[in-house]
Amino acid sequence: MTTPTETGSLADLEYCIHTCPVIDNHAHNVYKPQWLKTENLLTTTTEADGRALEDTPTSLPHLRALKQLRKLYDLPAEADWPAIVRRRAELLESDADALTRKCMEKTQTILIDDGFDDPDALQPCQWHDTFTRSSCKRLVRIEELASDILSSLYDKKQLPLGSAVANEEACSVAWATFLEAFETAIAAALESPEIAGFKSAVCFTTGLAIDVPSSDIEASVSGLHSFRHEFLPDCVAQDFAVEAKGMNDALVISTCKLIDAAHQQHRLAKPLQFHTGIGNKEIPVLLSNPACLQPLLTAFAHVPIILLHASYPYTRIAGHLATVFKNVYLDVGAVFPEVSRDGQERVLRECMELTPWSKLLWSTDGHWFPETFWLANVQGREAMRTVLMEYVEREDLTMQEAFRATRAIFFENSNRLYQLGLKMDDPTIQAQRDFSD
Ligand SMILES: [Zn+2]
Repeated sequence: MTTPTETGSLADLEYCIHTCPVIDNHAHNVYKPQWLKTENLLTTTTEADGRALEDTPTSLPHLRALKQLRKLYDLPAEADWPAIVRRRAELLESDADALTRKCMEKTQTILIDDGFDDPDALQPCQWHDTFTRSSCKRLVRIEELASDILSSLYDKKQLPLGSAVANEEACSVAWATFLEAFETAIAAALESPEIAGFKSAVCFTTGLAIDVPSSDIEASVSGLHSFRHEFLPDCVAQDFAVEAKGMNDALVISTCKLIDAAHQQHRLAKPLQFHTGIGNKEIPVLLSNPACLQPLLTAFAHVPIILLHASYPYTRIAGHLATVFKNVYLDVGAVFPEVSRDGQERVLRECMELTPWSKLLWSTDGHWFPETFWLANVQGREAMRTVLMEYVEREDLTMQEAFRATRAIFFENSNRLYQLGLKMDDPTIQAQRDFSD
């Protein structure tokens, strides 16, 4: 159904929403072929794993994805999940690149958090360039960076372990050595053109209630205490994962301080993304509320901070923060494809209840399977279509405003925020830009 107007039609808007190139501001690597063929495709629509996956086939997100994957693989309406899995295996065997290309259609670029899984199982960041219009860039996951540094200090026998933990001086030296190496690496990342920004996964371990120290000395004392008493005793068994609150908080504070210093020097600041809202079963759900970040948002007013995944189910709180803090942005991704259709539309409406669309960013949170990117983009465009067209029909937005919101959320906001300098090169969208600007 189309309603021609003097300044464009709903059909034009629908076309724009379905074809606008996207800057995917947060996703992860695709599996290498061996894992692509053997890992469980059921995980495309859920954070459940292990035995909890047994119930996934009765969830709304799964049933919707099943119908959509039939279309992607050209299967008939009666094809069940085993038929989908078989067809996918054939496609991966015959031309895996063609399938990936189809899944990443109309993707301008992807900003990739590549620190989320075993690097041996994942395609490297540059591999994804083959399927996007512009080169992809990395997001440095700060906890993974810290873990790598600590592992190399262990290899060089610079970590006091066992009875040596009792040696206060040795612990203090090791902590200072670690922190210096970490800050050097963050400073290098701030200068690197391959790196678009940073990502913190602190939400998965000690939560978002990050203590903001009143002085550098306080920060150092708290980090050292946590390093000595929580991290060192179990670090080898834990494979150097940083899951000690004082240390985790110190990593975030150090990163924010360096981003802030870069802002003061160049007036350019690379953004820091936070996982917010629910995730896997380890996440401390109460501490995944973005409201916990409020002291940090206040303390670092010039550090661009992105609340990932619409902070689901804390979307309205995240929307408030992105509205009242100049430096805070709200990512609308991850609910596609892990939330039901009506849930996704509600999330998008909640994102727009308070928050200016100039603060909203698109992402897929695609990971492991190219299909996660495809499902997210298909479902995200459907939700945008439903919500924006309704706003136009009810005169909450003019047609021009809806065009501008579409381009801003899918492309322009991330292009500006991450200083990507990309051009929206789709001629039809460009024509609509000329009409609506
Ligand atoms: Zn993610």
